[in-house]
Amino acid sequence: MSNTYPQNLQLHIDGEWIDAGDRDVHQVINPATGEAISDLPKATKSDLDRALDAAARAFPVWRDTPVAERAAILHKAADLMRERAPEIGRLMTAEQGKPVGQATGEVTASAAHFDIMAEEAKRCYGRVLVRPTGMNSFVKYQPVGPVAAFSPWNFPVFTPIRKLAPALAAGCSIILKPAEETPASPIEMMRCLVDAGLPAGVAQIVFGDPGEVSSHLIASDVIRKVSFTGSVPVGKHLMKLAAEGMKRTTMELGGHAPVLVFDDCDLEQTLDLTAMQKFRNAGQVCVSPTRFYVQSGIYDRFVEAFSERAAKVAVGDGFSEGVDMGPLANPRRPDAIGSMVEDAKSQGADVKLGGERGDGGGFFFSPTVLANVPLQADIMNNEPFGPVAVMRSFDTLDEAIEQANRLPLGLAAYAFTQNLRTANIVGDAIEAGMVAINNLTVSPGDAPFGGVKESGHGSEDGPDGLKAYMVTKAIHQT
Ligand code: NAD
Repeated sequence: MSNTYPQNLQLHIDGEWIDAGDRDVHQVINPATGEAISDLPKATKSDLDRALDAAARAFPVWRDTPVAERAAILHKAADLMRERAPEIGRLMTAEQGKPVGQATGEVTASAAHFDIMAEEAKRCYGRVLVRPTGMNSFVKYQPVGPVAAFSPWNFPVFTPIRKLAPALAAGCSIILKPAEETPASPIEMMRCLVDAGLPAGVAQIVFGDPGEVSSHLIASDVIRKVSFTGSVPVGKHLMKLAAEGMKRTTMELGGHAPVLVFDDCDLEQTLDLTAMQKFRNAGQVCVSPTRFYVQSGIYDRFVEAFSERAAKVAVGDGFSEGVDMGPLANPRRPDAIGSMVEDAKSQGADVKLGGERGDGGGFFFSPTVLANVPLQADIMNNEPFGPVAVMRSFDTLDEAIEQANRLPLGLAAYAFTQNLRTANIVGDAIEAGMVAINNLTVSPGDAPFGGVKESGHGSEDGPDGLKAYMVTKAIHQT
């Protein structure tokens, strides 16, 4: 695959595709082999200034483009993404590691976001308050202005499209900086927009040193909104930068999703669903089911049967036939997860499965199940962001809810029960942006996606996700 991975990765600024030239480069690595596969140009300060200038010029043009025309371009881009999904998926597997079927599926699922937001924008109605005094008030939603967006490496197309689609549908211009580890697939997503007829400067893509790019863009008066998906510490840092200019932010940060499994659940179905989903994308998912709290009557059976299923997960190069789980995305991850597993073991956790790093040059880590994990273990408090399930037992509903809420994070949470009363109580009491009961679906695309507490603020997707790129204005007219 590395032979067909692009050797001329480019920036896209002011309608122009820009080669590395004499710019510094970042080496892109295939995580399944550890080999360098291409060089990525890093934007210079003058590249970023050019992008800011183009975003400022393009904003009023795009804002004043009729919504039906904006929507038509987004629909066309979605069609192109679906057509090109097999090729874009292969690029994603080469740079990120996930199995090629999952990578292709990510591209087609992402394309739907252009469609959803194109239609949402047509329904972004205002309000009229008609008063007997003769003064009427109009409530209008207007695009916030040029956006700076930063997206991570775990879903190289799905995370940036959740920012691109609502920003463009709302009428904003946007400068996107995806993760340097996984550049080719978001570049191809951008090419779909360009080929669909998006005017120059409306959406641009840059790469570089993340800290330098974000501080330069966010400090600019041009940028009116910052959107970030990534870790809690980086999210807090970007919020401080945004506060200097009182810029709006959407922060989609980490989670540590609790899974409450009650005695009365459909056990086989719960096991099938959770054991499959835990290892999707090697667990590098902000909503990955991770902290399993299982009611004591079924705890031992659950741990054994979950471990048996996890043992069948086929690990390997994402291009190989029959592989369920690829490598971790970068060399930082096996080190981070390995030390969390060692810490849990040293504190008395039972390793029911895995816990090992792979041999060779790739960044592999085996599917891992830890049982009876002490609460003070690092892995019970910090997101492993990898293929590790941690398990503890509980007795009562109150105890389960207390455990679910014990961390300062609150992104996704899951519960499995056949008891309607339990389901209702859990749905209301868990401190999380999304709670899925008897399923693991938290991002259908048309419903709000986002966290509470340190998991961030603001919603992506659906009508709430569109409004995040708009300001509300009241006009009082006599
Ligand atoms: P990190 O904190 O260094 O980076 C996280 C992401 O933020 C990366 O995409 C990186 O390119 C970007 N980033 C880093 N510094 C930045 C800056 N100053 N300005 C703009 N962007 C910046 O950590 P990492 O090693 O890449 O990942 C570690 C942790 O990040 C994971 O354990 C997980 O908790 C979290 N993470 C969360 C998500 C998510 O979907 N919410 C995605 C990826 C990583």
